[in-house]
Amino acid sequence: MIYVRKPVEIERIGRSARIVHDALDLAGSMMRPGTRTADIDAAVEKLIRSRGAVPSFKGYYGFPASTCISINDVVVHGIPGDRELIEGDIVGVDVGAYLDGYHGDGARTFAVGEIPEASRTLMKTTQECLARGIEQAVVNNRVGDISAAIQAHAEANGYGVVRKLVGHGIGRALHEEPQVPNFGKAGQGPKLRAGMVLAIEPMVNEGTYEVETLEDEWTVVTRDRKRSAHFEHTVAITEDGPVILTVPNGDRGGE
Ligand code: MG
Repeated sequence: MIYVRKPVEIERIGRSARIVHDALDLAGSMMRPGTRTADIDAAVEKLIRSRGAVPSFKGYYGFPASTCISINDVVVHGIPGDRELIEGDIVGVDVGAYLDGYHGDGARTFAVGEIPEASRTLMKTTQECLARGIEQAVVNNRVGDISAAIQAHAEANGYGVVRKLVGHGIGRALHEEPQVPNFGKAGQGPKLRAGMVLAIEPMVNEGTYEVETLEDEWTVVTRDRKRSAHFEHTVAITEDGPVILTVPNGDRGGE
């Protein structure tokens, strides 16, 4: 079932999403060579808890950390650990926060120092994909309109859009219906209504869209080991258009 949230509930999701935003800012401030991914995770967890919230990911299906940190060819669900950041890495950080019964979810991909031009373009395009998806998150559109907009922009730039992992509804649970794929056909899927809240999260690969999961049963990598980028916002659909909750003042469309 797809929930339609009351304004007071969207406000609560917004509070969690704001913590996610601040956690991602903090993670971004730690992007320099030599930083251990476990240290980023610890700092983010501390920030989330200092705000009275709980990291949504910790213990979720047994996930061992508060963040997913996914470097270079890791698409998503990388487990923080002893890996130190290196100049030229691109680092996806995905964070969820749970406060007063509601979750927020967001992700960004950061550069460590100077990165290859190709990686910069990949990151920029993935961010544009997210913005284009959000533009379609309007009343009476369908989920497929979001999906198709994301896919079209990624593929027009020669990239692969991950099929296996998708965006999702969010609220009382971290992952709710509907699924929000990053590929699909315009005009298809559930109709969007005011009060729905979606986590829209394109995962865009430099090469093939195909992915595989490593032996730790979490880490998802590109099959061809080329790089991947990931950006995610929690977005409320309102009569006045999409409102991004994972930014400081709620925004309408764009990044
Ligand atoms: Mg998500």
